[in-house]
Amino acid sequence: MGHSERAHALLSASGAHRWLVCTPSARLEEQFPDTTSEAAAEGTLAHELAELKVRNFAYPAGFGKQKLAAGIRKLKKDKLWQDEMQGYTDDYLEYIKASALAFQSAPYIAVEKQVDLSGYIPDGFGTADCILISGRILHVIDFKYGKGVPVSAEENPQMKLYALGAYTAYSMLYPIEKVKLSIVQPRLDSISEWECSLGHILKFGGYVKQRASLAIKGEGPYAPGVNQCRFCRAKAVCRARAEKNVELAFAVTEKPALLENGEIGEFLQKGEDVAKWLEDLKDHALQESLAGREVPGWKAVEGRGSREWTDMDAAFAVLQQHGTPEALLWERKPLTLAQVEKTVGKKEFAEYVSEYVTKKPGKPALVKASDKRPAITNKITAEEAFKEEMKS
Ligand code: SF4
Repeated sequence: MGHSERAHALLSASGAHRWLVCTPSARLEEQFPDTTSEAAAEGTLAHELAELKVRNFAYPAGFGKQKLAAGIRKLKKDKLWQDEMQGYTDDYLEYIKASALAFQSAPYIAVEKQVDLSGYIPDGFGTADCILISGRILHVIDFKYGKGVPVSAEENPQMKLYALGAYTAYSMLYPIEKVKLSIVQPRLDSISEWECSLGHILKFGGYVKQRASLAIKGEGPYAPGVNQCRFCRAKAVCRARAEKNVELAFAVTEKPALLENGEIGEFLQKGEDVAKWLEDLKDHALQESLAGREVPGWKAVEGRGSREWTDMDAAFAVLQQHGTPEALLWERKPLTLAQVEKTVGKKEFAEYVSEYVTKKPGKPALVKASDKRPAITNKITAEEAFKEEMKS
């Protein structure tokens, strides 16, 4: 079955971060069409390419070079094909190869394995991109083609569900005790890894069972929050999310005129979803207005248009005939460093020109305390202040 034709379970593994937290969301979402974006279709194509490569690596006898080449030729005909998919899927394959080598003995490899989750979720199943097992270790690897934000493997519900499904499928054959979860996001140069005991995964299974029994009936309280609402199909018109954000944005208190840092931290955390919610609401109101349904106080208008050539070559030829030199009509621009690296390949880039590359520190950014990067400050340390004093 192609990746795009796969059925989605009502309580899907990829949506678990939502329905585990906001149990009535899955039933509420059923009222809205499950639309797919171009980015998602592009991800599906990249997954199909990745699958071919991993199959060729894992089962060279049954899926040899010719089958791989024929499969790639077919995928290249897709209108969403981009040559850069080759490099990114190679990165994923390299990670799988390195992970397989890290085992003491050659692991069993399952590619695009549909795992049964019905022991935890009514009619539940999921598809794990790659499963490696040897001895006591189960390693589940997920390929994400998105380039939005890096996704962490740590306590990732989707990954933990795949691990539960893989354990169900293989526990009779392997004495699994340890679980490793990895998310490979080559377009962000991000690989996130996390390990835990089998006991931790099984305990999570107990929690899933409880939450799924509520979610399947659409029961339990709504629990709005930035992570769970982000891709919820009900996000624009969900009353619980609206009320929570209105309360956060417009709450009136009798406290002192100025905020303390403690309150600022709390507001930033609580209000994270407010701006996103307003954007979702605006998008929805625009769609409603365009469909001819009234949203009191608002209307859809035509945005500012932009001019385009109908025939640029002809226009330039006329300009040149009238004395404009060609050099003035074209601009020669170097590729960015990242584009050059993509063009020549990572290895060649490192070999030939890495000595000409330096890393400038990035602009200070505010992130959550859980971020792995060390905190920075402008504050001068006592040691630096002493050095400055000695200089003057
Ligand atoms: S928008 Fe948020 S609160 Fe509403 S159903 Fe979806 S996840 Fe739950």
